[in-house]
Amino acid sequence: MMQAPSVSLDAFMDQVHGYIKDTHTIEHIRSAYHYAKTHHDGQKRQSGEAYITHPLAVAFTLSEYKTDPTTLIAGLLHDVLEDTEATFDEIKERFGEPVALLIEGVTKLGKYQYKGTPEDEEEKLNAQAKNYQKMLLAMAKDIRVIVVKLADRLHNMRTLDFMDEAKQKRIAKETLDIYAPLAHRLGMYVMKAELEDTSFKYLEPEKYRQIAQMISDTRNERENDLTMMQTNLEYLLRENKFEYDVKGRVKNIYSVYKKMQARNKEFEEIFDLLALRVILPTMENCYSAIGVVHSKWTPIPNRFKDYIAMPKPNLYQSLHTSIIANGKIYEIQIRTQEMDDIAEYGIAAHWAYKENVSPAMTETTTKKLKWYSDLVEFTEEAKSGEDVLNLLREDIFNSNVYVFTPGGDIIDLPKGSMPLDFAFRIHTEVGLKSVGAIVNQKIVPLEYKLQTGDIVKMKTSKQSFGPNDNWLKLVKTSNARSKIKNYLNKKRRDELIELGKEDLLRELHKRHHTETFSDKEVAALFSKKGVNSLDDLYYEIGKNTIKPVNAANSLIGTEEYTEQDLINQINKQADSPKKASSEVVVEGLDNPSLKLANCCSPVPGDEIVGYVSKGVGIAVHRKACKNVQNFDEDRLIDVAWGSNEGVSYNVNLKLMVSNRDNILAEIVNTITASKGKVNQVVASTNARGEAIMKLKVGVHAKDELDVIIQNLNKVKDVYAIERPMK
Ligand code: MN
Repeated sequence: MMQAPSVSLDAFMDQVHGYIKDTHTIEHIRSAYHYAKTHHDGQKRQSGEAYITHPLAVAFTLSEYKTDPTTLIAGLLHDVLEDTEATFDEIKERFGEPVALLIEGVTKLGKYQYKGTPEDEEEKLNAQAKNYQKMLLAMAKDIRVIVVKLADRLHNMRTLDFMDEAKQKRIAKETLDIYAPLAHRLGMYVMKAELEDTSFKYLEPEKYRQIAQMISDTRNERENDLTMMQTNLEYLLRENKFEYDVKGRVKNIYSVYKKMQARNKEFEEIFDLLALRVILPTMENCYSAIGVVHSKWTPIPNRFKDYIAMPKPNLYQSLHTSIIANGKIYEIQIRTQEMDDIAEYGIAAHWAYKENVSPAMTETTTKKLKWYSDLVEFTEEAKSGEDVLNLLREDIFNSNVYVFTPGGDIIDLPKGSMPLDFAFRIHTEVGLKSVGAIVNQKIVPLEYKLQTGDIVKMKTSKQSFGPNDNWLKLVKTSNARSKIKNYLNKKRRDELIELGKEDLLRELHKRHHTETFSDKEVAALFSKKGVNSLDDLYYEIGKNTIKPVNAANSLIGTEEYTEQDLINQINKQADSPKKASSEVVVEGLDNPSLKLANCCSPVPGDEIVGYVSKGVGIAVHRKACKNVQNFDEDRLIDVAWGSNEGVSYNVNLKLMVSNRDNILAEIVNTITASKGKVNQVVASTNARGEAIMKLKVGVHAKDELDVIIQNLNKVKDVYAIERPMK
């Protein structure tokens, strides 16, 4: 592990000289150092060293990343606002507003307190979420705040030995939970690896020691293999006239540990990876070199990855391949120097300071880091602190899967995400209109778990009924979940508005009133109840918080309610005492004993007829039912559909389909997406490889069934659909 030798001013200034030439700027940076030194005078670090060693070390790290002068100065001054007499205005005057704002941002982040184990769950969650939110807002203003904060944290981790054990553990946990993932997301691999390894050292000292020991024990053997391969590789590249540089790789103890845990494997099985990296001058060289390598050694199928054509969301670019040589597997990465810088230094490499060039992050870089703008957008949309925390946990800090749109754009989603998560990430409308998903050109069920590398295409339909409650089980991301919930809430409101409207119009009609009312009139009468439009009024009536009678009384007064109306109403009620339960009405009979026939499974909307049979009472068949033709005509009676709201009927469907993968899932998904409920499936195959599926589908009425049949007809390889009547 890296020890922390104090950085000297000379060493820092030397490094700055390496990429900043302007003498005025250099002097400015030097004066910032003296300003910090004067203000921290007399203060000591826990190690006993003068406090200035800390901001100097932070600035030194920033200079390794070649950050611009503003960031370097902010690094030198990052603790003066918090710990000294210096003020915002004074810094602003001496070093400019951008520096002052950066320091203020870093100071605010420092106030954030992370606690490993909560006492009051809920309180803790909210406090944590608020702090995350602050962090994101600071990033949204200027991502350099985070870069300074990471450099600050790196030096604090390097000097953690001087803290007491409880503090060591708390800070290490916070670093592992928050700062290392942030560094990773910014593509700062070297920073991430050291933050992880130092945290791991304090959190699990014994395991850390073991793995470090095993790595050093196996070094010789590994290095022999590597040296031999490197010699062969260099010979091959030289022969093909490449200007190359071949390197080994940085070891990340914590990532070895995580792999051992995740795959439940022994060290030897994990650490057998022999890896080499080839740096070439141009992108074209990279592609031709991979060809040369593959023609010399056998590549392992499916291990070739082209991250040049399709960079990772954190902008990482490289070609990866694994080859077999001398019975060993070698992983080879091929990339340009610029790509290598980005791989090691991440976002910082993109705005490495070059004089006479805008030092700020370019707009393209911001655009490329799409996850970052997504994140800011999500934070703005999210309502509660808990939402924000969940977003961060699931969507940002957890490991992700990377999938592709058919156009090749990369979408990153949390592990376990399903097609609907993808759909809602693309666009809310795509999500809402989804009827199915195609992954790698195969139709998959909506509960399919996306894998890195999948090419995902959503099937959408204008006729889609949109989300239902079941969709909440088919998503993993908070983003998709909250969009579905919004939709369902809105839909419920729309449905209740419809219901309320019917109730009110019925009431008004009874009083022979057919005029409509304006929002204004309604608001004037009901605003005390929070009702400000006609729709609001319908909604309240639909929810049953305002009775239609009372609403009508307010709107048109009570005097038009005649005696005859009352009598009619009472008669009507007397006529149909069990209105809600009488799904089928038989003229002249108050409470007939009825049964829906199994053979033809009628649903409301079908033409029906009753057949009187002893014991059963009246069996209700579809008029088209084959059985009806054989019945005794004298025993057939007229029946009609009554009130069936909310009643679900089982319909038998028989499908003839091609017996291919996924077809059942697709059929079930189509039915579900069309609002039907699949209650039973029986499938059998015939000699010709066709499958016959018999389904029981729950629907409310014939028009729903018609839509289902329509949509099933669109499913590929469905040859025939019928409602059997045996
Ligand atoms: Mn500090």
